[in-house]
Formats: sequence, C-alpha cells, structure tokens
Amino acid sequence: MTLTDATTASPTRPPFKPGQLFIGGQWKGASDGARRDVLDPATGQRITDVAAATTADVDAAVAAARASFDSGVWSRLSGRERGRVLLKAHDLMRARAEELAQTESADAGKPITFARVVDVEHAALQYEYAASLGQHLDGSVRETPANTHAYVRHEPLGVVAAITPFNFPLILSSTKIAPALVAGNSIVHKPASDTPLTALLMAEILQEAGVPDGVFNVVTGSGATLGDHLVGHPDVDKVAFTGSTEVGAHAAALAGKTLKSFTAELGGNAANIVFADADLDQAIGTVIQAFVFNAGQFCMAGPRLLVERPIYDLVLGILRDAVPGVPFGDTTDPATVIGPLASADQLHKVEALVDRAKQEGATVVTGGERVDLDGGFYYRPTVLAGLTNEASAVQEEVFGPVLTVQPFDTEDEAVQLANSTPYGLASGIQTTNLAKAHRVAARLDAGICWVNGWAMLDPAVPFGGVKASGWGREYGPEVLHSYQRTKSIVISLDEGAAR
Ligand code: NAD
Repeated sequence: MTLTDATTASPTRPPFKPGQLFIGGQWKGASDGARRDVLDPATGQRITDVAAATTADVDAAVAAARASFDSGVWSRLSGRERGRVLLKAHDLMRARAEELAQTESADAGKPITFARVVDVEHAALQYEYAASLGQHLDGSVRETPANTHAYVRHEPLGVVAAITPFNFPLILSSTKIAPALVAGNSIVHKPASDTPLTALLMAEILQEAGVPDGVFNVVTGSGATLGDHLVGHPDVDKVAFTGSTEVGAHAAALAGKTLKSFTAELGGNAANIVFADADLDQAIGTVIQAFVFNAGQFCMAGPRLLVERPIYDLVLGILRDAVPGVPFGDTTDPATVIGPLASADQLHKVEALVDRAKQEGATVVTGGERVDLDGGFYYRPTVLAGLTNEASAVQEEVFGPVLTVQPFDTEDEAVQLANSTPYGLASGIQTTNLAKAHRVAARLDAGICWVNGWAMLDPAVPFGGVKASGWGREYGPEVLHSYQRTKSIVISLDEGAAR
C-alpha cells in the first residue's frame, strides 16, 4: 500500500488533507497559504505537504482551545464521559491501524513491522489506559482539626501546548494528548516539523470519536517559527514538551517567564551494563536491540555499552559478527529491523559524530559509514571501541545506530561510568545475580532501569528523566499530575457561618 492509498483508502471517512491545519474543528490552510514538503526518509522523495503555520495560526488555535475550555463543553464533563470518548478513539485507531502504520512508516522512515507492532500498538494503548484513568479522577476528603469540612479537587489546567519530536510522532503525541484530554484540558498540538502526518490523522480520529470542536487543534510547521510564540502565549496554561535538551531548556526558560506549568521529556544517553555473569545470549540480543531500534533515534536507546572486563573481548567479537546481519534497508519489507535516519540533517549529525570519534581514537568494530540505498538517509549500524569516557561519542546523545563499548572492573566503576554523562533517562543491567541488580538499579541516575531486557514499557509504568533528561512523569497514574491542578475547598461547619 502506498501512502496515497493509505490516506485515501476508506470511503467512510473524510480524506487526508494536504496543506491543512486543524483549528476549531475545521481544516484550513496556513494564513499566508504557505506549505512545507514532507519527505520519505527511505527515498528522500516528497510524499505530500502540510501547511506551514504562521504565528497568526497559532493565535487562532490557542483561541479555539481557550474558547472550548472556557465553555465547559469538555472540561466540565465527568472523567467517565471523557474516558468513553477516548475509548472510542482507541477503537478507531485500531480500525485504522494499517493506515496509521503506513503513514508513520513513510513519514518517519520506520520499518513497517515496527510501525505496526510498536508505534500504532503503543499509541492505541495510551488511549485505552488514559480512558481507564477517567474512572479515577477522584479528589479526597481531608480530616481537619477545626470545625470544617475540607476536600480536595483535581481540576484540568486549561490550554495545553503539546510539542513533540520527530522520532516517535504517534506514540509521543499520544502520551501527552490522551492523558491531557482525559483530565479535561484543551490542546494545541505542534508535532515535529519533519514528521507531522499522524498528528493530522489523529485530528480526524479524535473528531470522529466525539472530541468537541476546539478541544484538539493541530498546527504544523517550523518549531523555530512557532515554538516561542506558542510557549510564550498568554492563553496557554501548560507546556508539555518532548524533544532535545537544548530546545527544552530554551522553552522551559520562556515558559518560566510567564510562570506556566512545564514538563520536559528530553534527551538521553543510557548505559547498558553487562556483568560477566549475564546470560550472554539474552544480553547480546538486548544490547543490539537497545542501539539499533528505530535506527538509534530513541531517547531511551542504550548507546553506551559497559562490559565487565572478563567478557569484554568476547562481547566485542560477538558484536562484530552479529551486528552486520541485522536486517537493514527497505522499510516496506516486513523483515527489516533497521531503516534510515528520519532526515538528511539527522544523517549528517551521526556521520559527523562518528568521524569525530575516529579522530578521537575510536576503533571501528563494525559499520562506521553511510550507505547509498534508494536515495534514503541510511547509516550502517556501528560499534566503536577504544574511546575514553570523555570522548564526544560517549558523552553526547548520538541519536543514530551507534554503540560505544567500554570495559569496567568493579560494580562501583560501572555505576560511576553509567552516571557520568549529563543525562538520566533510562538505564539497563544484564546479570543473573538478582541482589546485584537491585543494588546497582538503586544507584543509577535514571528515571527507569530495565533488568535483563530493554525498553520494557507499559502505559501503567511511570516514565521520565532526571538531570538533563527532564522533569515530570508520563505514563502511569502519575501522568495526571502533569495535567491537573489541585484545589482545596474548606467549608465552615459552624452554625450561622453562612448567614
Ligand atoms: P527538537 O528539540 O529539535 O524538537 C522538538 C520539538 O520542539 C519539535 O516539534 C520542534 O519543532 C519544536 N521546537 C523547535 N524549536 C522550538 C522552540 N523554540 N520552542 C518550542 N518548540 C520548539 O527535538 P527533535 O530533534 O525533534 O527530537 C530529538 C530529541 O528528542 C532527542 O534529544 C531525544 O532524546 C528527545 N526525545 C526525548 C524523549 C523523552 O521521552 N525523553 C522522547 C523522544 C525524543
């Protein structure tokens, strides 16, 4: 199925609209008519275009969101009623799963199998899980010593700006939109400039599911043009940002000027620690998965492999033999595991970082070069050894299919190396010694730690960063803290107080 087929396949729905924004329940072009091409990273070819929104379009989207919030058409429904709409959205996503998967694959360069079983599946689960939270938006009654009745309400915040990056467009928008909606907020969503298509499909789906006009709005276009305007907008109450640490810090500072609530899911550079007692077959599978998944464009990737010295040479040898065999290339082939990088920019960044690593003394165990294939943005999966811990490829977030490998001698040294970058998003431990796993997991600076596996994610398990990887949590009931404000109501029980 081509993207055109995927976006026009069903006669029962309105067709996907190139060059259109979704504001106040209406499809409309950018106020100046500008459009922006969307490329397939597997071929470098244009597949469609989207509107390049202006700041006036951002104003219109925020105004629509504000009006819908203030009207109470969504914000004053019960959580249960909103949950039902999200469940309908979940069902529609499953009914349109192939269309969503084909679109995500063509837009972001994802191997089709992963687009189906990871991106669409996980995004749908977010809606299903958020719908269940709608049953539990309860407040509480507090025992107070005075002659009062005190209770606590959790209320929606208002207008949420949901800003997302290019690497998992559908999942990362869903992790914000579903819980923000169930909590009763209205949303202006700005997807990444390069990968905006599934956000537009979700606008159709949410409208069909029954989300009232104005509650969900999508503005596509350049972050540099729209970002500051949206973040600084006086009618935006909260900014939910996922993206790089650099842009996140800039946006947080701007949000701080207007004292907006802000959550930040930022960059990562996780260490995967393999102890000598690990089940090596399982551990190697985990190591490879952790750095090649999504061509390494994964905030939770494990690009830093720390191996206990007695098995260091053995592990390097296995990686040298195994990594070139991971199915690579055509994203439409169901067997493909590694596709292209999502843009020419991303390819150039990875190329530059590996070239710098070579200058810094890296031994290329395997890979280390781009691949000319169908005009796409492909980089060969790469394993680098022999770098110091200060090398840029070790300290910086690579965001490509690149693994650095370092030996360690003691548990303390493993922890020290793992914690030695500015980031703190994810981490992993491969060992058969459970006591060691608990000890080390407790000492790692990371929002999540996987033992004997990688990227074991579930909507019920909170996820987020520490240090330069951000603050706030998504997933789990904890996500509601990001989209609700707490109000205390205290009533005098004294006779005559109300007279
Ligand atoms: P990015 O920071 O360049 O862009 C993220 C979003 O911010 C995009 O929509 C972009 O258009 C927008 N933006 C750009 N300038 C802005 C501004 N001035 N104000 C507000 N928004 C602005 O990130 P990217 O390159 O798209 O994505 C890769 C990064 O995202 C990596 O660092 C990765 O680790 C991180 N990421 C983090 C998580 C997480 O959950 N922690 C998940 C996925 C990706």
